[in-house]
Amino acid sequence: MATLRVAPKPEAAKMKAAQIAKPGAEFEIDERPIPEPGTGEVRIKVQACGICHSDVLVKDGLIPWIQYPRIPGHEVAGVIDEVGEGVAAWKKGQRAGVGWHGGHDNTCRECRRGDFINCRNVKISGLSYDGGYQQYMVAPVEALVAIPDGLSDADAAPLLDAGVTTYNALRNSGAMPGDLVAVQGIGGLGHLGVQFANKFGYNVAAIGRGPENAVLAKKMGAHAYIDSQATNAAQELQKLGGARVIIATAPSSKAMSALVDGLGPNGKLMVIGATFDPIEVTPAQLIFGNKTLQGWASGTPAATEDALNFCALTGVRPMIETYPLEKAAEAYARMLSGNAQFRVVLTM
Ligand SMILES: [Zn+2]
Repeated sequence: MATLRVAPKPEAAKMKAAQIAKPGAEFEIDERPIPEPGTGEVRIKVQACGICHSDVLVKDGLIPWIQYPRIPGHEVAGVIDEVGEGVAAWKKGQRAGVGWHGGHDNTCRECRRGDFINCRNVKISGLSYDGGYQQYMVAPVEALVAIPDGLSDADAAPLLDAGVTTYNALRNSGAMPGDLVAVQGIGGLGHLGVQFANKFGYNVAAIGRGPENAVLAKKMGAHAYIDSQATNAAQELQKLGGARVIIATAPSSKAMSALVDGLGPNGKLMVIGATFDPIEVTPAQLIFGNKTLQGWASGTPAATEDALNFCALTGVRPMIETYPLEKAAEAYARMLSGNAQFRVVLTM
């Protein structure tokens, strides 16, 4: 009997991706076809992707609507290598990144008001769809951020989330040049916060636990360093006149609560370090002196471009440790350890 020979279909080109197969699973390096961009989407050849603490949401399955397998990553820097139908404003060969804000619908009430970050159908990169822990990623144009020439991919990656979050929180905090602005926590967010606060012209007080980070904080632009283990940080801020703004980056509600009394008149505690236990503050603490407690989440792609351009212009840079994509599990563990100086970045 003759064998029927069928010409094999040309095999799609493959790429490597670090995926989470199911909630709580370890990272596995998967070979899969390079994805094609659909209408209104581009494909990015990923060069670098930051590892953010919020990737734990994907790794540990903390959000019920995430579909698995899922490739995390929302600090993605690379080059557009294919554009889908209907994409006119972005070109092949153009440097582009994707941050936390993964897209919006342009039709809901908030979008119609231009408040894209609060879109009712907002998408989150690496949660709603596969993110940057892979060699090629598809993203909708609403999520794209142009990367200026002055920034390397590995430096741009953490700025796409950690960077824009601190930059945007500070520039919307109401602090004016010369005001006392305290940055609580000298870590992944805080080391950027200190640099931005200095470049914005604030009188910058960095607050860290222990003396270790004093030299580094001053090198980053802090005018004063407050050791919250050796002193009462709120009292130290009052000695400096009381903070106009405290930007709370270290995810410790207890540490944040302890700082409220460090605020000066009209002072604001701006919270960007995400935790799930309560901040404690009495109404009286807020009422006398007209104090404010506010949260801030990331930024739109347009705000992120502002942040990246500001960094290119002023020399603000993240401190990073890089790992190859294949070592995603090791890199993630390093991030989780809290010992990284300060952001962990995968390179492709
Ligand atoms: Zn919307």
